[in-house]
Amino acid sequence: MFGLGIKSAFSDNIAIDLGTANTLVYVAGRGVILNEPSVVAIRSKGGVREVLAVGDKAKQMLGRTPESIETIRPLRDGVIADFVATEEMLRQFIGRTKSLVEFVRPRILICVPAGATPVERRAVYETAMSAGARKVYLVEEPVAAAIGAGLPIDEPKGSMVVDIGGGTTDVAVLSLGGVVQASSIRCGGNAMDEAIIRYVRRRHQLLIGESNAERIKIEAGSASRAVNGEAAEIVIRGREIREGKPKTVVLGPQDIAEALEGPIEKIAEFIQHTIEDLPPEISSDICERGIHLSGGGAKLAKLDQELERRIGIEIHLPGQPEQCVIAGSAAILQSLKEREHLLIKP
Ligand code: ADP
Ligand code: MG
Repeated sequence: MFGLGIKSAFSDNIAIDLGTANTLVYVAGRGVILNEPSVVAIRSKGGVREVLAVGDKAKQMLGRTPESIETIRPLRDGVIADFVATEEMLRQFIGRTKSLVEFVRPRILICVPAGATPVERRAVYETAMSAGARKVYLVEEPVAAAIGAGLPIDEPKGSMVVDIGGGTTDVAVLSLGGVVQASSIRCGGNAMDEAIIRYVRRRHQLLIGESNAERIKIEAGSASRAVNGEAAEIVIRGREIREGKPKTVVLGPQDIAEALEGPIEKIAEFIQHTIEDLPPEISSDICERGIHLSGGGAKLAKLDQELERRIGIEIHLPGQPEQCVIAGSAAILQSLKEREHLLIKP
């Protein structure tokens, strides 16, 4: 019966990182038990929409569906673009968690983007309530990311967190436990994938899809053209534009760095402008303390070095940037009383 005490005290608490690319669910005492793409496959028939799959299964269908089936990322650009699909996705993920852990009515903490509108916050809140939560807490994503990155956010000192997700890059400045400034651009991992698609088409007259582009980025991507050590190469197959014949090309990290130059420059400039617009005390705190990265997009090889080179401020990259938000949410969940001031109203 070892551990039962802990289980009964905490295990009906869950935290959810509802991302544009991936949704993670953490269960107190158990860890992250679900990590799936934020994708929904929908079939439309005679004006009726029916959800076919959610998560991993739906992502496998991306780019491979007949006309009657659509795969959508309901949160693609960091806003809830499709309320019904978001709701269904959240409901299914909560349902799966409940069946895995045998909960009845958990308390749920959910992260919402710092720029979410009151309507969006309310929608997330209502959905979680209607999916069977006993209580729903909302927290702003950058607050969770900063705690997950180990930043002492309650101090009267500015910290900056840059979260590079799928649809967006979110820059937030925190001080005294709150968000001083938050802004977001629609340029993240998906924009990198699209830049690879365009590059391969322009340079090699080859058509590739989104999933293929993402794989190229993850396996052989680099943010910097400088080569050192062994470079991974990747063989890609696709359809040649003019004749439609199958074609194979080999790409190395330097090619991909060239392809990714646009989105990386955009992200670096965005961070730089955000810093320039800050009150001088806070910007000097950040120059001193450095910038902390989070999000799956931060895993692009050499991105930290390249941003440091362009911005001129030290960049910190945690070991598992894609888990910062959920780790911070878990920490908040574990000491809800002491961290109550970090919660926001639905
Ligand atoms: P979100 O919070 O928006 O759901 P995530 O933080 O989960 O997004 O990050 C997803 C993005 O990270 C995707 O665009 C994915 O391709 C990208 N990504 C994941 N791993 C890597 C990697 N090793 N290199 C580059 N990009 C990566
Ligand atoms: Mg995220």
